[in-house]
Parts: sequence; structure tokens; C-alpha cells
Amino acid sequence: TWFNPTKMLRNLIDEAELLSGDRGHHLALDAEPDLEILGTETELRSAFANLLFNAIKYTPAGTRVTLSWSATDDGGATLAVDDNGPGIASHHLERLTERFYRVDDARSQDRGGTGLGLAIVKHVLLRHQGQLQIDSELGVGSRFSCHFPPHAVRRCEN
Ligand code: ATP
Ligand code: MG
Repeated sequence: TWFNPTKMLRNLIDEAELLSGDRGHHLALDAEPDLEILGTETELRSAFANLLFNAIKYTPAGTRVTLSWSATDDGGATLAVDDNGPGIASHHLERLTERFYRVDDARSQDRGGTGLGLAIVKHVLLRHQGQLQIDSELGVGSRFSCHFPPHAVRRCEN
């Protein structure tokens, strides 16, 4: 079914702020409010939550995390989660969405997790004909973007 993800994203940020308590991330939403998506709301919510919670979990307090939802030139749209955290070394990127794969560093080790989150994200996107792209640079930050094709995106009328 068609739905507007803007409220969902706002809601996820509110939830993340409650859960992360005083860890003090700066969470921002930058969404095109009339852009709708065709899909299963519960599945997409869990995928976007995974990306947002990862960004909070693997970056230090004070890090800015931005969720953006915007149309792309091809007529589709992209949901991106950006952080200016520590980034991920390039040799990990290819394997990051494998089940149970975790970056072997102190940060991942002292944060619990099973390494399933991104495998789930990839699977959910596959079911929506979407694509997950991961861009990251050590010392600069990471961007996880979910691109949806034109047939799964529309402008709401009114
Ligand atoms: P789970 O999601 O199952 O609780 P997890 O978070 O370890 O466990 P994934 O979400 O699949 O598993 O992430 C895989 C690994 O990618 C993480 O262990 C972490 O090392 C790295 N990672 C994910 N997101 C980020 C990020 N925003 N910044 C830095 N590293 C990240
Ligand atoms: Mg995770």
C-alpha cells in the first residue's frame, strides 16, 4: 500500500531520542513531505530503524545523524541515513550486509549486536525493488542510502 514515510521517520527519531537518553546525538530529519512510497510499512520501518540505530550505536556522543527522504532524478526516491562518525574501512564494505558480519573493532565489540541488522535491511529492500548503497570514509562518516525505483514512488495529491 501507499504511505507517506515522513511521519514514520519523525516517529523513529523521537523513539531514538528516548532510547539513546543522554548520549547526545544530534538527530535531524530532512524530508520531502508529499513524497509517498509503495510498500509494507512495518518492514520498511524496521529497515530504517536498523540504519538509524546503527548510526547512533557506532558513533560517539555529539555526532550528527541525518535522515533524509528525497526524490531522485530518475523519478524514484532515496532514504539516506548520514552520520559524521568514525566511518568504516573500505575493505569491510563489501561484506557488511552478510549475515553475522561485524566490523572487528573495539567499538563493535563493546556494543552488543549479532550482525543481522544490515542483512535484514538488504532483504527488505530487495522485496521492495530497492537498492542499498553504503558509502563510508574513515574519520569522515558513513552514508547508508536506500533507493526506490519510480514505480514505487509518487507525490501525494492535495
Ligand atoms: P544487529 O543489527 O544484528 O544488532 P550489528 O549492528 O552488529 O548487529 P549490522 O547492523 O548488520 O549488525 O551492522 C554490521 C556492522 O557494521 C556493525 O557491527 C558495525 O561494525 C558496522 N556499522 C554499521 N553501521 C555503522 C555506522 N553507521 N558506523 C560505523 N560502523 C557501522
Ligand atoms: Mg545493527
